[in-house]
Amino acid sequence: MSLHSKLSDKSTRFTESVIRGMTQLCLQHNAINLSQGTPAYQPPDEVKYAAIEAIQEGYNQYSITWGAPDFRNAIAQKMTIFNNIPTDPTKNVTVTCGSTEGMLSSLLAIINPGDEVIIFEPFYENYGPDTIISGAKPVYVPLRESQAVNGIMQFSYDSSELRDAFSANTKAIIINTPNNPLGKVFTVDELQEIADLCCEFDSIAITDEIYEHMIYDDKPHISLGSFPEMKDRTITVSGLSKTYSMTGWRLGYVVAPDLLTDAIRKMHDFLTVGAPHPLQRAGIAALNLPPSYYEELVIKYDKNRKQLLNTLTESGFSCFSPEGAYYIMTDISNFGFPDDTTFAHWLVKEIGVGGVPGSSFYSRSEFGKSKFRFMFSLSKDKLDQAGDRLMQIKSKI
Ligand code: PLP
Repeated sequence: MSLHSKLSDKSTRFTESVIRGMTQLCLQHNAINLSQGTPAYQPPDEVKYAAIEAIQEGYNQYSITWGAPDFRNAIAQKMTIFNNIPTDPTKNVTVTCGSTEGMLSSLLAIINPGDEVIIFEPFYENYGPDTIISGAKPVYVPLRESQAVNGIMQFSYDSSELRDAFSANTKAIIINTPNNPLGKVFTVDELQEIADLCCEFDSIAITDEIYEHMIYDDKPHISLGSFPEMKDRTITVSGLSKTYSMTGWRLGYVVAPDLLTDAIRKMHDFLTVGAPHPLQRAGIAALNLPPSYYEELVIKYDKNRKQLLNTLTESGFSCFSPEGAYYIMTDISNFGFPDDTTFAHWLVKEIGVGGVPGSSFYSRSEFGKSKFRFMFSLSKDKLDQAGDRLMQIKSKI
């Protein structure tokens, strides 16, 4: 019997994550891994103790499927104050197993066959499989790069291309700000343009704001859901993974208007039942950390950003200087490799550093074959070592 014939069509339409594959390759060759977006840091001690306490106090069974009440209260307070989105914990919040599940539950809650979803490209890898699983038709809008000046590139969309992407079939647009892989932070004018189009075409915005606390050079984080006209048509997805260095805890959440929340909660319930209850309790301690926690986080990441940006430009890469998140997208054309995957393997084996081939962030691999992404959530030691290795590139090609 051929088991191939038993597979669902959907399961054959996407592959294993390229990023996890690069991590395996780094392990095999003892390379420094600048590919996977796993923070190098630990959650604050008081948050870890809160998790231990919650287990000892008996929070070991299911919580309410859409989230423990006190955790939802803390999320609603944070959303109202930090994101400027008035949020009712009883009606607008769904706690999910990471923002990954939050995004998928949101799409499952709104997509019907034939619905289109606009995605800016390059995009976070998961959005491709998310559209396949939910049955949405992706419509890609390129974030185009300008000529590099002093080794630094810029990325923005073309307004007419964005308008052309919208149609009567546009159910939603996904906006990721700060963005992975570029580190682009959408400006207020760009968000206003997106808001206007959503209203004109009666579409929903789904925003992925997982890097909302990692923005550099004093730029503010702006949530599209805070625009008055977007109040009833925005689904905001975020989580605790990156801000509190707890990707393994799987705590995410979705904030949406009442009616959409009802549908998202149903999808979430039958996908996962709920996020880990004791960790939700500790999540309250995380969300209650003082402002200084967030200030120190940005200072720490900004140091890494500047260090890696220097190393990469000196090693011959053209770079997009990230305004947020912890990735640097580069152009590798200067090095003369046929494509990004060949470069990725060479870099791991000959230089001892891992990154992500740019093609994994594009709908068609040829769009990303001159691109390569590095991440900079690393200890100072590792970043120094990676820097020493990267500086050898020029002498080895
Ligand atoms: N969204 C973006 C843009 C990401 O880069 C990542 C992780 O790399 C996620 C979501 C996943 O977050 P979570 O751990 O909350 O599922």
